[in-house]
Amino acid sequence: MTLPALTGLSPAALAAWLQDAGQPAFRASQILEWVWKKKVTSFGAMTNLPAGLRASLTESFRLSALEHTHTQGAADTTRKFLFRLHDGRYVESVLIPANPALYGETSDRRTLCVSSQVGCAYGCKFCASGLAGFARNLDAAEIAGQVLAAEQLAGERVDNLVFMGMGEPLANLTNLLDAIALITSESSLHLGARHLTISTSGLVPQIRQLATHPQQIRLAISLHGATDEVREQIMPINRKWPIAELFDALDDWNSRKNQKLTLEYILIQGVNDALEQAAILARLARRIHAKVNLIPYNTVEGLDWRRPPDLHCRAFRDILHAAGVAATLRLEKGGDIDAACGQLRLKQETLEGIR
Ligand code: SAH
Ligand code: SF4
Repeated sequence: MTLPALTGLSPAALAAWLQDAGQPAFRASQILEWVWKKKVTSFGAMTNLPAGLRASLTESFRLSALEHTHTQGAADTTRKFLFRLHDGRYVESVLIPANPALYGETSDRRTLCVSSQVGCAYGCKFCASGLAGFARNLDAAEIAGQVLAAEQLAGERVDNLVFMGMGEPLANLTNLLDAIALITSESSLHLGARHLTISTSGLVPQIRQLATHPQQIRLAISLHGATDEVREQIMPINRKWPIAELFDALDDWNSRKNQKLTLEYILIQGVNDALEQAAILARLARRIHAKVNLIPYNTVEGLDWRRPPDLHCRAFRDILHAAGVAATLRLEKGGDIDAACGQLRLKQETLEGIR
């Protein structure tokens, strides 16, 4: 049996475990300090704990939920980390340096793109994570652990998090919120909720639920089509939650939150890049006061779609600008290292015959 990861324990759960072990309460903050602030990689390194406690921690827990197996990319560029999980599955995180302020966060900061599931059940036609189907949810230790591991590997703090890696974060909402508690809590990673952006393909009930969450987490919607006709060709979820219902939920979000929403729109040549789509997209964005991130399609192995020429991408963006919508055409970063999330993990699992 695999031991639970210490990094998945809330401060309250750690306090309860220490009490059962007959340890004084102040040990909790010492342990949390070692794990989350000093970021040690072994129980042995927790030198102010009695040897007996270190031994019982070792018997009861793994320190980390993730084992780093591979890094792609150089230190000053986008880097992709591959991690092995306790059941042999893989998950990946992408560290992007000096990212421009795409999601409303402070610019010139390090952004980590975090995975929330192994694979994804939503089957968007353009997405490597969706192509191979769903394996399982990540637990809180596996989600928050990606941030800790990235900081250990990079030797520097992560400033912004985007839940845009593998998986649909809102389909794993309970674990996601537990992870966010670990990520934002003062005793662990202590990142401000405003520096966290959840990206969703549009799970309406969960968007409404998250709108009632007290923390000011940012929300980005993967739209990728401005009409149902176009969107449902590439995103099966649109049949369950069409654009009208999605935007009702986003109105509800806006009535409760004061963070600007983001609409993400991948540009795929001949699929969703007609300029009429841009005009409709502009109306949708204005309705919910959202800004738009345009992302030229990233090549996925096995798919023969391509991105439109730069000139066309700019024309699409200019229609949004002319309608008074803030729109960015995403600068390509990491396309050369399979940065469209899901691709590195798929390669590794295929190599090992997991798939
Ligand atoms: N499931 C969530 C979050 C993970 S996907 C969601 O769909 O929002 C993160 C982002 O990567 C989404 O906007 C997704 O549409 C985008 N993406 C997926 N495949 C891509 C590709 N081939 N090129 C560019 N962006 C892609
Ligand atoms: Fe899943 Fe998001 Fe990929 Fe769609 S785009 S398959 S929801 S990870």
